[in-house]
Amino acid sequence: MKTITKQQIRQAAQEAYDEVKGLSGGANANYIPYLANIDSNLFGLSVTLPDGYSINIGDTDYRFGIESVSKVPTALLVMKQSGAQTVLNKIGADATGLPFNSIFAILLENDHPSTPLVNAGAITACSMVTPVGDSNAKWQAIVDNITDLCGSAPQLIDELYKSESATNFNNRSIAWLLKNYNRIYDDPTMSLDLYTRQCSLGITSSQLAVMAATIANAGKNPVTGKQVFDADLMPKITSMIATVGFYEHTGDWLFSSGIPAKSGVGGGVVGVLPGVMGVAAFAPPLDKAGNSVKGQAAVKAFVTKLGLGVFNGQNVEIVE
Ligand code: GLN
Repeated sequence: MKTITKQQIRQAAQEAYDEVKGLSGGANANYIPYLANIDSNLFGLSVTLPDGYSINIGDTDYRFGIESVSKVPTALLVMKQSGAQTVLNKIGADATGLPFNSIFAILLENDHPSTPLVNAGAITACSMVTPVGDSNAKWQAIVDNITDLCGSAPQLIDELYKSESATNFNNRSIAWLLKNYNRIYDDPTMSLDLYTRQCSLGITSSQLAVMAATIANAGKNPVTGKQVFDADLMPKITSMIATVGFYEHTGDWLFSSGIPAKSGVGGGVVGVLPGVMGVAAFAPPLDKAGNSVKGQAAVKAFVTKLGLGVFNGQNVEIVE
């Protein structure tokens, strides 16, 4: 049993933040005009523990585009609505080893879209959200689920939604290719629009840390006390995050950090240590795979300082 104090956690977060703050490198996502114009110096680090205790350092109240981090809550939603086995059958849980928006991956694995945590599988996941055929009700279910996980509501960034809708040609191809392979379960245009809209939700790193902590706490939101999903989905969603959260860099990330984490091109990074804590970081400049440079460095430095990691074979107890 490893025992750590809240003070040690706070100190590790502060040290990680201070060390990473001056880090340069990477560039804002440039293929979505709105994201290219966000202040590159924004940087926040947030931690939430299973008792709701939270640490927020830096720009943790800044609302940025959730982007691909939204794939995690919607994967949970379809597992809640249809069951984990159905999601495995209809979408899958395999890493692609390829970029998030890969069309090649769909051609290679045209019997299923691989995983709900890449664009193809996420568009399929949006098609599976019930009630099928009702765009408004599906959207409400997506937003309500994110609200439950975060303990507070996300807000659509309209400018981002417009910016992304006007430029998402690759994703349009993905939606129709999925249709071609019978791997989309509602209207392709509507499913793509739901995906684009969920990516355009504004969220803060402090909200994402609560989401991560809800996952780490087996579905019970540590802030609101609400049981958002069944405990048996915690290992399912965490394994998906572990296998593909950073796309073609996932293996290197997991090897060097030890924490399953998911990125978004808005600059968000969300990490889950089951039973222990949720962590989130935000900084817009990205590496070539689309993962936040500072976000990765901060999360890695933080867990490394505490000696935490899913493969360490230790039970962790957090004391006052
Ligand atoms: N909305 C973005 C896209 O589909 C999300 C990508 C990401 O965050 N990796 O391209």
